[in-house]
Amino acid sequence: MARGLLMVFTGNGKGKTTAALGMAMRAAGHGLKVCFIQFIKGGWRYGELDAVKRFEGLIDFHVMGQGFTWKSDNIEEDARLAREGWDFARAAIASGSYHTVVLDEFTYLLHYNMLPLEPCLDILTGRPAGQHVVVTGRHAPERLLELADLVTEMRAVKHPLADGIKAQPGIEF
Ligand code: ATP
Ligand code: MG
Repeated sequence: MARGLLMVFTGNGKGKTTAALGMAMRAAGHGLKVCFIQFIKGGWRYGELDAVKRFEGLIDFHVMGQGFTWKSDNIEEDARLAREGWDFARAAIASGSYHTVVLDEFTYLLHYNMLPLEPCLDILTGRPAGQHVVVTGRHAPERLLELADLVTEMRAVKHPLADGIKAQPGIEF
């Protein structure tokens, strides 16, 4: 039986979501099912959505909280959408149908206290045996890092945006 891991990709450098996508592809290559849930911060990321469509039946891709940002002035509505997204994610975890569940940008829901931290961590640590969970996003709470089996912090050394180079298809989305 596989040893299910809790993995976190955090930090300010680029590569967290792409690392999670790489893991999803890797699992799919073995014919293992993945649920990739993106807690969207603002825009829509067509590149990964369209790529993942080619893995139909292996990677289930879901977008939660589409079109709103964490800095919105409607905090109650954001909290409601956060709870809705989390309810969906925890159902995917509890279903036991996935080899890996990815919670992309999930750290923001915890960082901005849109969800109560400890009950969320209980769900993550109490996931079905053998199931892997990947969490990405900046500002991962310390408690999450403590509980994780794998933590990688992407460190921003250089980013083209600093030279005024805008987001490009295939690189950022
Ligand atoms: P990616 O989706 O490319 O793997 P990420 O998930 O690590 O990036 P996020 O924090 O989710 O990064 O931010 C997503 C967007 O912000 C991407 O378009 C990315 O290029 C950009 N970005 C990430 N890190 C930096 C940085 N240090 N400076 C400027 N822009 C950045
Ligand atoms: Mg990301």
